[in-house]
Amino acid sequence: MIKHALPVTRAADFSAWYQSVIAEADLAEESGVRGCMVIRPWGYGIWERVQRLLDDRIKATGHENCYFPLFIPLSYFEKEAEHVEGFAKEMAVVTHHRLKADATGRLQPDPESKLEEPLVVRPTSETVIGTAFARWVQSWRDLPVLINQWANVVRWEMRTRMFLRTSEFLWQEGHTAHATADEAHEETLRILEVYRSFAEECLALHVVAGEKPENERFPGAVETWSIEAMMGDGKALQAGTSHFLGTNFAHAQNIRFQNADGQLELANTTSWGVSTRMIGAVIMVHGDDDGLCCPPRIAPWQVVIVPMLRDKPEDAAIVDYCRTLQAELAASRALGEPVRALLDLKPVKSTTKRWNWIKKGAPLVIEVGGRDVEGGNVSVIRRDELYREDGKLDARVVARDAFVGEAAGTLEAIQAALHARSTAALKANIVPLSDWAAVEATFAEDQKNPGWVDVAWCRPTGAELDQVVERLKALKLTIRNAPMGQTGEGAVTCIFTGKPAVERVLIGRAY
Ligand code: AMP
Repeated sequence: MIKHALPVTRAADFSAWYQSVIAEADLAEESGVRGCMVIRPWGYGIWERVQRLLDDRIKATGHENCYFPLFIPLSYFEKEAEHVEGFAKEMAVVTHHRLKADATGRLQPDPESKLEEPLVVRPTSETVIGTAFARWVQSWRDLPVLINQWANVVRWEMRTRMFLRTSEFLWQEGHTAHATADEAHEETLRILEVYRSFAEECLALHVVAGEKPENERFPGAVETWSIEAMMGDGKALQAGTSHFLGTNFAHAQNIRFQNADGQLELANTTSWGVSTRMIGAVIMVHGDDDGLCCPPRIAPWQVVIVPMLRDKPEDAAIVDYCRTLQAELAASRALGEPVRALLDLKPVKSTTKRWNWIKKGAPLVIEVGGRDVEGGNVSVIRRDELYREDGKLDARVVARDAFVGEAAGTLEAIQAALHARSTAALKANIVPLSDWAAVEATFAEDQKNPGWVDVAWCRPTGAELDQVVERLKALKLTIRNAPMGQTGEGAVTCIFTGKPAVERVLIGRAY
């Protein structure tokens, strides 16, 4: 039996395993504040890679970055009733701006410094950005406005889990205003496609893009679209959302423009975001019982060289050999960028270093000992293929020059292999079902990894939808989305109401 690097396996306790990856891979740790995490350099390095790659794509589709304040006057939220209702339960509010010692010497908010109007720590910025749009947009010539910001937001979440759901999280939020509903709608779907392709190509995550049901819409949105990923335990994770807001926010915030005929019209707006949650998805999809397995595109270091030093005179030659190797790798390119190669010279035992990098998920770990130097070789560990069939660690001795020549191709192969694995896992764990009893059986207590089910429904609204939501809730289920690009084929009878169906939806348990 293989003795894995983590103290707990996925099969034994998925939730504890997830926490152990975060700890053992040095990704993040709890802070003194519940739901707020310290993101350590390896975790933040992954986030920086996400930022860089996604930012390029956001800019390539015509958007510009800007920055809006952290504090939003409470009155801004009151203008859009549904929006404030949706967020009211999870807002952090600043009411004072000074502290003062009370009679016992304890610092308390100074009553005399009470703010005239409370300030909300932004949970999302539609209200403040919309207010700016109202100033910026006067005529049809000012449209579209296409902006994005990278920021932190605060939503006072009651049940938190590192990366997946935190009270403070890092994200990008895009906000756009358009002359017509069609244009805004097109934008909503353009961004959904940016998210989908980013998840597939950069995070190696196979996702399903589709429309959220009415009850899962963003507060104030006309339509909410999402990409949904399947975690290693079969649960769903909403990995990103794109909202078509119609004129709801424009109406509330007075975003009007004079059209070409000189008449005043309301703009149509959109908003969209992905967050540090994506790192949670990467862990839960690509992680294994030895830790994280980073897709090369988002790995802060793609190749880590570990010299096997023994406090002997030969060490100097090993270090020299490694330095040249590192420089050659860094001068080569893989996946469209220079290879990120690190020579790990920390004064730590080399086997400890090896396992630390395996747990962190560096795609290639290269070990170099005295014998490798003599033979002109390196020993290569490929993180996604860690063990041989006999259960031994698969460290392959390869000629140094051949390794350098093939490194780019190997990184590309790892990226592709992880994506193929994620695609296969998602496809293998979605079952089409046509009656409710089968849904109940699939999600019975003893089913370990039920995955998702794919059913036809009539897209009920109002009270009928409420009933559907209640029935699902009893099984701890939610409708994830109605996948895009449906032909209507296979949508015959609604599994909930027996009425003629209009589309198919995916149902599963979710994080
Ligand atoms: P929303 O503005 O609610 O559509 O959220 C945009 C995206 O941010 C969602 O699709 C999630 O991926 C992510 N997100 C929402 N809430 C949290 C949270 N508490 N922690 C981390 N990510 C979140």
